Amino acid sequence: MSDRTMALVTGANKGIGYEIAAGLGALGWQVGVGARDEERREAAVAKLRAGGADAFGVPLDVTDGASVTAAARLIEDRAGRLDVLVNNAGITGGRPQEPTLVDPATILAAVDVNVLGVVRVTNAMLPLLRRSASPRIVNMSSTVGSLTRQSTPGAQVGPIAAAYSTSKTFLNAVTVQYVRELRDTNILINLACPGYTATDLNAFSGVRTPEQGAAIAIRLATLPDDGPTGGFFDDEGEIPW
Ligand code: NAP
Repeated sequence: MSDRTMALVTGANKGIGYEIAAGLGALGWQVGVGARDEERREAAVAKLRAGGADAFGVPLDVTDGASVTAAARLIEDRAGRLDVLVNNAGITGGRPQEPTLVDPATILAAVDVNVLGVVRVTNAMLPLLRRSASPRIVNMSSTVGSLTRQSTPGAQVGPIAAAYSTSKTFLNAVTVQYVRELRDTNILINLACPGYTATDLNAFSGVRTPEQGAAIAIRLATLPDDGPTGGFFDDEGEIPW
């Protein structure tokens, strides 16, 4: 067992998740690299370790309950607790996503990863987070999940996305319920938006680097004990719900 801060980042083999893992590793933390594909996971771990991070692989498909349970067991065996959970794994779900055209299966798939995946992982990790002196949960959302922004004519909120945007709105709503239930604990839970970031998710059309996209999650993962809980933030500050 180690005294060093133990973090788990889901979907950490590439994109923003990889950079969150790198950023937390640079703080001297132990970082579990949650990823479903063994080859991609081990390649990311090797690269993070070559950069000096104390990274280790955590086999994790957030849609698979058995995989999530095994991931919690792995963290427990390694550290006996978890200090920081970053629920970063996400998918857009494919096209079309106009609500009049979308296949309901596309919506279900996005919800399975982006919402239920967060519930599965969070609930499996909660017993380990409860053993931490300063537990933090960061859920990776998006401004496209903001109903205020989506319903403001002319606002920059990406394409019409009845699966992706709505899954992030759903994630925000579920996160608020976690915040309510866990209000009397020391667990700080916040939602992050990385901004429009060049990754596989958008065929690298984003304007921010994955490192820039990772910054807000790293900030929320490293909040002091008197930091906020139940907020929805990007680098600019609070995002309207
Ligand atoms: P990305 O490069 O496509 O990375 C997504 C990560 O999620 C990958 O590691 C992927 O693993 C993983 N993942 C997908 N399904 C999974 C599953 N069932 N189990 C475990 N891992 C799974 O995308 P990104 O842009 O870095 O996105 C990271 C987060 O930021 C997402 O939640 C996304 O919605 C959010 N976000 C991104 C942007 C943006 O502009 N990029 C903006 C707002 C919010 P594989 O390699 O195995 O597919």
